[in-house]
Amino acid sequence: MTDERLLLKNGTIVDGTGAKAYTGDLLIRAGKIEAVSEGAISADSSVMDCSGKIVSPGFIDMHSHNDWFLPNADRPGFTTPFTEQGITTFVGGNCGFAAAGILPDSPYKTFIEDNNLFQSGTPELEWASLAEYTGLLENRGITHNLATLAGHGTARASIRGWDPSPLSGDEMNQLLGLLEQAMDEGARGVSFGFQYAPGIFSRAEEIKKIAGLVRSKDKLLTVHLKAYSAVSATYPVIPFGKAHNLIALEEAINLAKETGVRLQLSHQIFVGSRTWKTFDRAMALIDRAAAEGVDLMTDTYAYHCGASIITVLLPEWFMAKAPQSYTDKTMNFRVRLLAALSFRLLGFGFEDIQIASANHPALNRFNGMFLSDIARERGVSPFQNYMDFVRESNGTARVLMHRYTSPEIVDALMTHPLSMYMTDAWAEPEGLQNPAVYGCFPRFLQMAREKRHITLEAAVHKMTGASAARFGLKDRGTLEKGKAADITVFDRDTIRDNTTLEQTDRQPSGIDSVFINGIRVVENGKADPALRPGRVLV
Ligand SMILES: [Zn+2]
Repeated sequence: MTDERLLLKNGTIVDGTGAKAYTGDLLIRAGKIEAVSEGAISADSSVMDCSGKIVSPGFIDMHSHNDWFLPNADRPGFTTPFTEQGITTFVGGNCGFAAAGILPDSPYKTFIEDNNLFQSGTPELEWASLAEYTGLLENRGITHNLATLAGHGTARASIRGWDPSPLSGDEMNQLLGLLEQAMDEGARGVSFGFQYAPGIFSRAEEIKKIAGLVRSKDKLLTVHLKAYSAVSATYPVIPFGKAHNLIALEEAINLAKETGVRLQLSHQIFVGSRTWKTFDRAMALIDRAAAEGVDLMTDTYAYHCGASIITVLLPEWFMAKAPQSYTDKTMNFRVRLLAALSFRLLGFGFEDIQIASANHPALNRFNGMFLSDIARERGVSPFQNYMDFVRESNGTARVLMHRYTSPEIVDALMTHPLSMYMTDAWAEPEGLQNPAVYGCFPRFLQMAREKRHITLEAAVHKMTGASAARFGLKDRGTLEKGKAADITVFDRDTIRDNTTLEQTDRQPSGIDSVFINGIRVVENGKADPALRPGRVLV
């Protein structure tokens, strides 16, 4: 770190606390904010004129999976689109899947590697503990700052694989030990992924013990709920019964009530147009819990589509028999009926599923197209077409799911006092990208400007100061003397997301400069991928 100084002159300072913007100067020295003030700072330093520009804290992507991609220092393409949208810090390890904090010499190591959704970033686990992972990142150098969570799913899989039966007492202690060690080594808490194996197998007792452990460490519990749709494969379908996403939400809130753990309800989405109707009831549950003193928050991305894999629609009994089930006539018939029924109940269908990457040489030409259109072009039934993609890709085709939530819900979550902003996105080596990789945070700022439903200061707070406070990132998230010089300079009038339905990998407009730990990594909107000024925040 050099002692070099840089004065950001005459910018509009939005400091990340939510306080009103003011015109002023900010002095960077040796990677930190040396001074920030209304009016002029005089310093013997180089000067960057920020007239007409917003100077804000670097954006914090508080729900990320990039802990799987940062070790891949040879592939900066995975992380530069994030830099170019103003992001300086990731909070990784979400949804139960963390790159670090697994059993040393786990017999399931290759199993985790093979079943890893983020394989393109981390094909091989070259570490076990968070301390080992941190050491390796510090050696290689990383593009961004990274804080991380311990992943219940990956830790559990390293002990028991994908075995659905309950853990023995010894295994339970082993699991608690792994999660505790990761938190002692700097993890900000523990993440659950209740919709995925092996999180889906965990029993009430196991969940409660882990929540209690997180509480005792005064850390955060983040939860990917058991269901995000009114009807799901996770709970039995009862006519006129309660919406599944609301049952899942109540379970998570009750866990926080019973254990006193601080709770982060990950990515509030409402899959299918019929699930949208449950939004008010869901937010009422969250508001009531907050009023009763439960420490809980939630988060959203700026899009109403999200990335997933093609098998996400298929029930557990079908997946348990894969790949034989892909060609089994009876099972295909059963799953076809189930899909038809749940699509009707959900207000969702093959017309909402866009192939991001078919992962098959003959089918890749359909990348970017919607399944219903592909079926028409191929002259086969929509279900047959879907199963062809499942079978040919061996279940690995990536999709973008639309009607994942509604534009109205995103607007409402953007302004809700208990919500924060994030991307939940990762870049892929080929095919259609999740637009959130390129434009998510600029899109929030564009929406705030165009819709005027939230002030610029409040929107910036939800992607900087609020996230830093939630995850205990004490020296980031706000522009204050002594804090790390993570800074994003942008134009409030031109900042915008340039992605479209067909072209999702477009750079945003309006990001001028980005500094990470005082190093300028973006200049005139362009990132220098060779720079690795990031730190592991442990
Ligand atoms: Zn998730």
